[in-house]
Amino acid sequence: MKLVAWMAALAARAWCQPENARVDRVGDTGFLQLQADSFKSLTPREQELGYWLSQASIAINPIIYDQLSRFGLREKRVLEAIVAHPDGVNPAAYQKILAFTKLFWANRGNHNETTAQKFLPEFTFEELKEAGLTAIQHGAADFSKPAFEKELEQLRQPLFDPNFEPMITAKSPRAGQDILQASSNNFYFGVTLADVKNFTEQYPLNSRLAKINGRPEEQVYRAGTPDRRVPPGMYAEYLAKANSFLGKAAEMAEPAQAQAIRDLIRYYQTGDPKDWLHFGVDWVQNNARVDFDNGFIEVYRDPRGAKGSSQSFVTVTDNRVNSLMVKIADNAQYFEDHAPWAPQYKKQGVKPPLAKAVEAVSETGDFHVTTIGDNLPNENEIHEKYGSKSFLFTGSTRAIAHAAGFGALEEFAASRKEIDICKKYGDEADDLLVAMHEIIGHGSGKLNPKLTHEPAYYLKEYFSTLEEARADLMALWNVNDPKLKELGLISNPDVAKAMYYAAARVALTQLRRIPKGDSIEEDHQRNRQLIVNYIRDKTGAIAEMKRNGKTYLEIRDFAKMREGVGQLLAELMRIKAEGDYNAIKALIDKYGVHFDTAIRDEVVKRYKGLDIPAYWAGINPDLTAAFDGNGKASKMTVTISYSRDFVKQQLGYSAVYAPKH
Ligand SMILES: [Zn+2]
Repeated sequence: MKLVAWMAALAARAWCQPENARVDRVGDTGFLQLQADSFKSLTPREQELGYWLSQASIAINPIIYDQLSRFGLREKRVLEAIVAHPDGVNPAAYQKILAFTKLFWANRGNHNETTAQKFLPEFTFEELKEAGLTAIQHGAADFSKPAFEKELEQLRQPLFDPNFEPMITAKSPRAGQDILQASSNNFYFGVTLADVKNFTEQYPLNSRLAKINGRPEEQVYRAGTPDRRVPPGMYAEYLAKANSFLGKAAEMAEPAQAQAIRDLIRYYQTGDPKDWLHFGVDWVQNNARVDFDNGFIEVYRDPRGAKGSSQSFVTVTDNRVNSLMVKIADNAQYFEDHAPWAPQYKKQGVKPPLAKAVEAVSETGDFHVTTIGDNLPNENEIHEKYGSKSFLFTGSTRAIAHAAGFGALEEFAASRKEIDICKKYGDEADDLLVAMHEIIGHGSGKLNPKLTHEPAYYLKEYFSTLEEARADLMALWNVNDPKLKELGLISNPDVAKAMYYAAARVALTQLRRIPKGDSIEEDHQRNRQLIVNYIRDKTGAIAEMKRNGKTYLEIRDFAKMREGVGQLLAELMRIKAEGDYNAIKALIDKYGVHFDTAIRDEVVKRYKGLDIPAYWAGINPDLTAAFDGNGKASKMTVTISYSRDFVKQQLGYSAVYAPKH
């Protein structure tokens, strides 16, 4: 389960990076250079491990483009052929194609990865065609001219028609439409919800369900085993390439981590869910300084909440912030005991989850720079026996906070007091929220033993929203607990206020991320709307206020707001523990989905005046390997650098699969 940046974007930090992290901008999207200064403190062997894991991370990057749209990889190939060959292309057309391609890479396709909505090019079909033909003349040898023209015709609708597959994931489609059919993603092909209902998947996370000869059939994501007993499946090329790098990484890792890496290789070969669990068990118990994630992980993109999207990150431990997370993890049982829910849902013998503050050296696939916290693995059966591992991405938090500044806070805060408190304590509140969300949020609570499946099975399309809300609410509930002061984790009671202010404000400010339509699809956005609207309705602690024609969300009573937090948290825990689908559907449909479009338009307008990007895309650090004269891995030296060049990096990633001539 991931936590996406929200408070970070509102509260600027006292600390600054030597250079501004923001290096580029296209429309509403800012491009940030990630830094991982901890990399330099690693041993040469650890650095080499980081290098190979990053290569494996880059190797799986194409998969997500295909998962989000069956046209994604074809569109990518056309755009990259042109971007890599600017010679002779009309400069004005080239600039438009380049800008679109940057957004395409940032979102892993032509749907905004946050809003799920399609975005359109500013160039015309004819401009694209002419640019492509010129690029072919100048050496873009992927295509012959006739093949290119044919390809473009087939991509005309996916690229230029706003009504063709307008959403990645449509959880609340318009009347009469099926959630599978209304979504552009490629997890399903030709099947409806009704087809899927009585079909038991053998590979729920890592397969595409396609209708073949009138029946649903699973197309498994796997590379195949070397002995060919398990044949290759979907994405075999990418998974096999990743495995070749993972094999090299395993040679550099210490034994426990090497075992986890080999488990992953096995899983990518077989696609067998048992091998995935095996990997998860070994992975979660390992806490190496160079850590990673690579697999079909989060189910947010699937309207059914079953199929995992491909993602990867490679991280280095940030020791400075790490101590905060360790202290919260060490006291996990205390927070469980003091949770506001019924005693039968309280876990005994809570195993403190592994918690670590990290700087990312690579983020690919469906893992984005805006994910500032993550708790993995997602499988309850692993959590319950072995705990989970939580990551706080300090490098991303810093980069986003530094690039955003105080402008939004000053515009949207309801009072001078709110501005002052958030300027002073916003950063501290932010770190605490992320740490508590991941460590004592997702990891907490006990299910009714009568449940025979994971809660997602019962709560379906509402599960992810419930789980994100539960984790945020655990932070909001506990930030007022005296235990934090006792542990030295909170410097002032105003830190709690800063967290509450930000939680209320975000229900207003996040509307700018949904410029079209009148409903919220994304789970984290739904969760924040749910929390604020529920508390407004049940307690009146938060109220809408107008001043000089502008709308604000004002906190009128902090104590009452905390009561509302406790009330909703207790109910969400009950729903999760009992698998109560009707209750979660009623709650989220009422409080988490709809908003006033007039207020949204106002928010969008106010943001325009601030000139802050609404979305962020990350540029990874570059790891470069230098080999000795014999090209032996044992004589490799790795250096980290920051190119601040998104285009060069993305073209470099694609070159891993460039056709050989
Ligand atoms: Zn989360």
